[in-house]
Amino acid sequence: MNPTPFNPASPAVIDELRAALGAAAVHTDAETLAFAASDETEDLAFPPEVVVTPANANGVAAVMRIAARHRVPVTPRGAGTGLSGGALPVHGGIVLSTRALNRIVEIDRDNLMAVVEPGVITQVFQEAVEAVGLFYPPDPASRGSCFLGGNLAECAGGPRAVKYGVTRDFVTGIEAVLPNGDLIRHGGKLLKNVTGYNLTQLIVGSEGTLAIITKIYLRLLPVPRHRTMLLVPFDSLEACARTVPAIMNAGVIPSALEFLERDAIEITQRHLGKPFPNPGAAAQLMIELDGNDEGVIQRDAERVAEIALGEGATDVLVAETGARMNEMWALRRAIGVAVKSESNYKEEDTVVPRASLVPLLLGVKEIAARHGIRTVCYGHAGDGNLHVNILKMDMSDERWNHALEPAIREMFELTVSLGGLISGEHGIGYVQKKYLPIAFSSEEIEIMRAIKRAFDPTGILNPGKLLPDP
Ligand SMILES: Cc1cc2nc3c(=O)[nH]c(=O)nc-3n(C[C@H](O)[C@H](O)[C@H](O)COP(=O)(O)OP(=O)(O)OC[C@H]3O[C@@H](n4cnc5c(N)ncnc54)[C@H](O)[C@@H]3O)c2cc1C
Repeated sequence: MNPTPFNPASPAVIDELRAALGAAAVHTDAETLAFAASDETEDLAFPPEVVVTPANANGVAAVMRIAARHRVPVTPRGAGTGLSGGALPVHGGIVLSTRALNRIVEIDRDNLMAVVEPGVITQVFQEAVEAVGLFYPPDPASRGSCFLGGNLAECAGGPRAVKYGVTRDFVTGIEAVLPNGDLIRHGGKLLKNVTGYNLTQLIVGSEGTLAIITKIYLRLLPVPRHRTMLLVPFDSLEACARTVPAIMNAGVIPSALEFLERDAIEITQRHLGKPFPNPGAAAQLMIELDGNDEGVIQRDAERVAEIALGEGATDVLVAETGARMNEMWALRRAIGVAVKSESNYKEEDTVVPRASLVPLLLGVKEIAARHGIRTVCYGHAGDGNLHVNILKMDMSDERWNHALEPAIREMFELTVSLGGLISGEHGIGYVQKKYLPIAFSSEEIEIMRAIKRAFDPTGILNPGKLLPDP
């Protein structure tokens, strides 16, 4: 696609936005612009000219019509917790925040479905459905702040994906605004739908580059009545990673199967000022099992413990109470923030078939050692999804800039050679787009460009994301 010449949001455009939305939904103050300039991706900042907060789909459509008329770029923004720079307004223009689209429209118990707006915080939604005995499993570690719309746009995963699936597995329909301002609806409270191309699933995971999601239909489950958690330390990374497929092979599907390297635990302990069990272990698995039959869970937990000890675990600790499990989860969810606070860093989100976790992990460590960089690894081992955090620490800028990109390329090439891909759940966004050709052929990337053109012929919606620069 040729670069489209964009215009900034001029004072005249901002006046049009005020006339369409009301002055209270149009923000040009320095604080709001600075806030919308960044997300959780490294230390990048691209200030927009204006931030808008429409309160309904008609408002979103009005913004897109104005933007299309003046060729002003629009960047959709949820809570700004993204880790690939998807919400960064890299070409300036308008940031469209969904924070005012924050209603849980309906929790439909008869159909086990919910209808929500995109600005609902994930944890708020989970708690609302749990209050009526239902369960929405996708639980990114950022669930206390991220929005459901952002979860759809990134197809967020999280620990429970190993048993229940990722966000897309729960989305049965959407309403969305196209870049020209047209409103489309697809799917609904439907468990089956093969009526034409699946626009819902095309937009899920499209990182805000095809359409702005304004309403979401989500499938729910009954809440499991029991759960238990095991914490399993190992003396070697290899034994720890090897245990993951061994558990699955035994016919047990945990509701979470997380890998934590020693450094990740140490940094998080220091950050929180709280101890974590087995801090000296080279790596640990955090394993949760859930279901309705306590006896079955107990037997599965014993089987998992046996397998882990057989693979070389040095101990198996059980979190006996709900409070203890929640404490463990709080520690696990804090790792990302803790690692970020440790040093300048670059975060990679590799994913391989889970049985290839051992060669991935060992390969990443070998590449890092050869390039003289420090990596801290943790992630959703049950999904083969390893977060590789590369920490700058006290490296000079020159050495960092010299070592980083070749090391990342090698790690991604390794990932792809193992049958994997370069992002499992954080998306491509702004910071990973140059690596996309490692994963896809030029023909495959051209199909993606054609899809983008079909939705957004002038390229005003979230430009500079996902697809490599031409
Ligand atoms: C500490 C921490 C832990 C995390 N843990 C996990 C994890 O376990 N699993 C995981 O998958 N991710 C995780 N993330 C990443 C992040 O939280 C997710 O990608 C999340 O889904 C982003 O949601 P958001 O509302 O913050 O979206 P933003 O960051 O605001 O936006 C993300 C993308 O979605 C687009 N977008 C937002 N709303 C819409 C909409 N309504 N329509 C169209 N496009 C839209 C934006 O343009 C952007 O491209 C973590 C992040 C942090 C900081």
